[in-house]
Amino acid sequence: MAPAIKPVITTTSFPTTRTVVIIGGGIVGLSAALTLAERRIPVVVLEKGRIAGEQSSRNLGWVRKTSRLAEDIPLARAAQQLWQQMSARTGVDVGYRQAGIMFLARTRQQMAVHENWMHSVSQLDLDSRLLSAAEIARLVPGGEGKWQGGIYTPSDARAEPTLAASAIAQAAIAKGALVIENCAVRTLATEGGRISGVVTERGEIRCEQVLLAGGIWSRRLLGNHGIRLPALPLICSVMRTAPMAGPTDIAVGAPDFSFRRHQSGGFIVTQRGALDAPLTLDSLLTGHRYLAQLRQGKDNLRLSLGRYFLRDLALSRRWKPTSRTPFEQVRTMDPEVNHRLNQEALTNLTAAWPGFTGCRIAESWAGMIDVTPDSNPIISPVARLPGLTVASGFSGHGFGTSPAAGQLAADLVCGSAPLVDPTPYRFARF
Ligand SMILES: Cc1cc2nc3c(=O)[nH]c(=O)nc-3n(C[C@H](O)[C@H](O)[C@H](O)COP(=O)(O)OP(=O)(O)OC[C@H]3O[C@@H](n4cnc5c(N)ncnc54)[C@H](O)[C@@H]3O)c2cc1C
Repeated sequence: MAPAIKPVITTTSFPTTRTVVIIGGGIVGLSAALTLAERRIPVVVLEKGRIAGEQSSRNLGWVRKTSRLAEDIPLARAAQQLWQQMSARTGVDVGYRQAGIMFLARTRQQMAVHENWMHSVSQLDLDSRLLSAAEIARLVPGGEGKWQGGIYTPSDARAEPTLAASAIAQAAIAKGALVIENCAVRTLATEGGRISGVVTERGEIRCEQVLLAGGIWSRRLLGNHGIRLPALPLICSVMRTAPMAGPTDIAVGAPDFSFRRHQSGGFIVTQRGALDAPLTLDSLLTGHRYLAQLRQGKDNLRLSLGRYFLRDLALSRRWKPTSRTPFEQVRTMDPEVNHRLNQEALTNLTAAWPGFTGCRIAESWAGMIDVTPDSNPIISPVARLPGLTVASGFSGHGFGTSPAAGQLAADLVCGSAPLVDPTPYRFARF
């Protein structure tokens, strides 16, 4: 089960034409829709299930610059400015708090990763700094963990995923965007080699531009048109504790757990050192592109060949506009929680901060992440199909950058000056 999302009053009518169609009502598609609506461009968002029902409501809510690739920092900085205005822009408190983010290292090797990252961004004038064990003890009291050191960025932040996407959707609607739930896009429609519309389960919508922001599903939709977008699934399990005192307001990521304060007064906790990596047919088709990532993160990945392989195999890879598609078969991707990983996280957390001992778990859930071979998203026009732009593959860190990623995608759709240099995100790099 996903955490409860603030409901959005969406549209029941169905347009036959619109200037821009956005496929996917996650936070990226919705941020693009808000930007376009503010620019008075007629836009409709089509969501196969519920607004933010997949990654965008299930994530940890970390809004960080720390540990991003240097080339991804301009987008993260632009996003930070947009987050700061988000509550005013949407008229809803989306839980944005600049309480800082800290990553901890137990070993020299782990500390070297943070030092190398600091070196990679040394020209960028960030407020990140390395921490000693004594500084960690001062900033996050009550700990018993033995730390080599850490890294801390006071200007990093958090926001509430269950509030933010809904607020952005409602603000986009107020500015004239149409947002339609339970409406899967089956295929892209083309005329003369360029986009002319989309075919949905409710009929066709003609348009000039399509923005595909379908998260883990973008690869499958494009695959049906013979376009290969590399993205593989990872599953992250999460818990929320009941309200409790807790040691700090700073979000803390240790090698094998993380916690951050939630608006309810509890904490969001996860096993930061492990993700489920279900093997699918796509692992065989594109796995070779991920060898570098696999070498780096092999200790963190729990590879499995089981139910996801079979479930994925049962979903079509080729279909016609008249067929029922995988998007109608799986309205919401709701992976099983890995309670063993959650228990590991709690054990590691309570050993490091005993104040968490006996904390009550109010809810737990899991989400499926779409990972590209270089862990950077694709925010880019698709050369093979004029009129199509993709914003997908956010690789587990797209919530933080989503307001800027959506705006950048909207800029590319409109042909206006891009918010940041889109070069790191071009599709052609694959
Ligand atoms: C457990 C977890 C923890 C995470 N923690 C963080 C974090 O702390 N910080 C951070 O920055 N990021 C985090 N992330 C990543 C972040 O959640 C994602 O990068 C971000 O939400 C991606 O948004 P999106 O709009 O691209 O995708 P999604 O939220 O997945 O939205 C895509 C939507 O498209 C819809 N769709 C797909 N195909 C079709 C179709 N054919 N027709 C109609 N609709 C369609 C889907 O139903 C879905 O709702 C985490 C992710 C998970 C799962």
